[in-house]
Amino acid sequence: MTTAAAEHRSFEADVSRLLHMMVHSVYSDRDVFLRELISNAADACEKLRYEAIGKPDLLGDESKLAITISADPDAGKLTIADNGIGMSHDEMIEALGTIARSGTRSFMERVATADGKDGAQLIGQFGVGFYSAFMVAEKVEVVSRRAGNTEAWTWSSDGKGEFTVAPAALGEAPTRGTRVTLHLMEDAKTYAERWTLERIVKEQSGHVPVPISLITEPG
Ligand code: ADP
Ligand code: MG
Repeated sequence: MTTAAAEHRSFEADVSRLLHMMVHSVYSDRDVFLRELISNAADACEKLRYEAIGKPDLLGDESKLAITISADPDAGKLTIADNGIGMSHDEMIEALGTIARSGTRSFMERVATADGKDGAQLIGQFGVGFYSAFMVAEKVEVVSRRAGNTEAWTWSSDGKGEFTVAPAALGEAPTRGTRVTLHLMEDAKTYAERWTLERIVKEQSGHVPVPISLITEPG
């Protein structure tokens, strides 16, 4: 059990640039953020499946891998949860504070040299991963527990240069895996509505090899 206090960290400079673009991408196709978060959740389930070949204990008594999208239209909140591999403290800081993925790098290069086409439009086309969440959210919270670990961690940010990592209350963390909560911007509240979510999931995530369920609060 750790008693560490919250750590405040700065995003890598390229992440800050990317986030700035996200927030100002009002004309781009913001729907892609959901595809990106669902694809991360599915990747996490695949990673767990793979690791569990050698370590079946990792699956515990929760061997059915699943993605759950829950939305609360009144609160303007959208949550994407998975019971996949999860992230440790260090993995979280690495994965959600830097640009590790090569696709994002080449995206940034395209934007830098884009002629006529603005970055906002390119974001819609590329869908640049986790950070797309900041196209629709004024604040993002990630709670994660890595498979096999007891401790869980909370990452949170308003996308403005800094993020915070702190120990999560174990009772509030997923038993295993990751929960991403988006506090939607005023003009993005439609992403907490059932019909919008159903439409996007159908359009963009039909091929995902993990079952997706959608829970919406009566709003
Ligand atoms: P990519 O998926 O191409 O690696 P992303 O920006 O979408 O890039 O995600 C960055 C990283 O964050 C992932 O590679 C993964 O390590 C971590 N990550 C994001 N979402 C999750 C999740 N739901 N479960 C576990 N790890 C995640
Ligand atoms: Mg991804």
